[in-house]
Amino acid sequence: MKLTKMLNSDRLSLSFEVFPPKTDSSFESVRNAVFEIAELKPSFMSVTYGAGGGTSKYTLQIAKDINDRFNVPSLAHLTCVSSDKTAVKKQIENIHSAGIRNIMALRGDIPESKRDEDRSLWAYNHAVELVREIRDSGYDFCIGGACYPEIHPESKDRKTDILYLKEKVDAGCDFLTTQMFFDNNLLYSFLYKIREAGITVPVIPGIMPITNGKQIKRAVQLSGSHIPQRFMALVDMFGSSPEAMLQCGIAYATDQIIDLYANGIKNVHVYSMNNPIVAQKIISNLSSVIG
Ligand code: FAD
Repeated sequence: MKLTKMLNSDRLSLSFEVFPPKTDSSFESVRNAVFEIAELKPSFMSVTYGAGGGTSKYTLQIAKDINDRFNVPSLAHLTCVSSDKTAVKKQIENIHSAGIRNIMALRGDIPESKRDEDRSLWAYNHAVELVREIRDSGYDFCIGGACYPEIHPESKDRKTDILYLKEKVDAGCDFLTTQMFFDNNLLYSFLYKIREAGITVPVIPGIMPITNGKQIKRAVQLSGSHIPQRFMALVDMFGSSPEAMLQCGIAYATDQIIDLYANGIKNVHVYSMNNPIVAQKIISNLSSVIG
């Protein structure tokens, strides 16, 4: 099922992100965790494409299982920067053949080994080219793109970042999902700026529950997100106790989500990191809020 209608409706939605296994031998355990999350019947689930070291070959299989076995719409991520046109076109075709109707079109991070290459020789330099490729495929997909409330780390300034974002949306994105952020005011200010720039598609805030002290360093390294003092105080006080940090991280994420809904945001995406406990607790905290 395409996500377009749901994302434009007045109902609140809550979705979860999972990632494929890092090794073949961890496939079963990852799949079991994903199934536990799917059993909670979120509004949809996204499956990353190789992000964080996951192997991209399982993205499609996991997304198909979520769709077929649990009747939960899935969103398959696809990156383009390290691929050639034939491989990307084939993957688009495979996603469609698997019955998946939603693609998150991403550039992907540029691998260290490719940083000094002549980029004019690459098949793809930016996600906008992938969005066009998917639209030109003739298949009727709902297409998502990534956006960055605290600007993309490679951007020279916010204005330029938003200009390129507008170009990506105009090429055919039906919605945007944000990078994680820990201060909702950053999101509200970003939304104001992109609406002013004429970007009108639904924007789904991405919320990352930080449930252990170590995770925060990695999250900040990857995203460059600002960590508010209020949250840092929690990590300083409870970061060394896994049980306490789990409670605090979920409480903080729940608080962010409730504030987003209260401020008129209809759709929220949770970076659940293949952790069914996190997904269960968040759903349970919001059971009467979502209805
Ligand atoms: P782009 O939209 O291409 O933007 C990248 C940079 O290029 C920005 O600075 C932008 O301003 C600039 N730019 C854009 N268009 C142009 C243009 N025409 N000319 C010049 N500059 C331009 N990574 C994975 O590997 N797998 C995943 O599954 C994955 N999922 C993600 C999901 C979300 C919601 C987010 C926020 C990120 C995800 N990532 C994933 C990480 C993402 O691939 C990286 O952040 C990557 O560096 C940028 O991808 P993008 O699609 O935003 O790129």
